[in-house]
Amino acid sequence: MIDEALFRALVTAAAGTISAHAEELTALDSAIGDGDHGHNMRRGVEAVLSDLESIAVKPLPEALKAIGTKLVMTVGGASGPLYGTLFLTLGKELANAPPASADLAGAMAKAVDAVAARGKSELGQKTMLDVLYPVADALNANRSGAEIAAIAAAAAEATRNVKAIRGRASFLGERSVGHVDPGARSSALIVEAVAGALQ
Ligand code: ADP
Ligand code: MG
Repeated sequence: MIDEALFRALVTAAAGTISAHAEELTALDSAIGDGDHGHNMRRGVEAVLSDLESIAVKPLPEALKAIGTKLVMTVGGASGPLYGTLFLTLGKELANAPPASADLAGAMAKAVDAVAARGKSELGQKTMLDVLYPVADALNANRSGAEIAAIAAAAAEATRNVKAIRGRASFLGERSVGHVDPGARSSALIVEAVAGALQ
């Protein structure tokens, strides 16, 4: 199970990769959006890190909910409420699971569905969901961390060939094709960091 030290390592790794790639995320969003995704996400993860002392001592479900609340309050844009929903739902679902089971795959499936409901969006519309759904499926299939990281990276890259149907990029229609979706890329970065830190 995830203890406090491991939880700190996971959050630090995820936050670190988002900060390190903030300029890349902003460049992706400049191509098909309004060029703020990297800055939005960096603001969010810095807020989480600055509260990590108080977040990490909570039980895992409460810690995940605290991260979700923090992201809703600090990231902004479309992605803030969506990432917030992901972590809030993960926390809620893990809290409802039988204490010993820690059904991460089941919680992730519910959390991704909650993001889709919040965004009125679905798989295949060139959003973060194009990474989150394959990751939820891979967790459910008991794939290894390395496999899940590779699946996430490939899924983000595959958004390049997709026409955006949701979010600002959808305003570009066909012209959104040829660019990786920034939210898909940030989701893959987080998944890769968490999977790497779990090894
Ligand atoms: P904004 O579009 O408000 O500037 P960001 O730039 O921070 O917000 O985030 C953009 C990302 O949010 C997109 O790349 C996409 O992955 C994700 N996104 C936007 N709208 C939706 C939606 N309705 N459903 C799922 N994801 C979405
Ligand atoms: Mg944007």
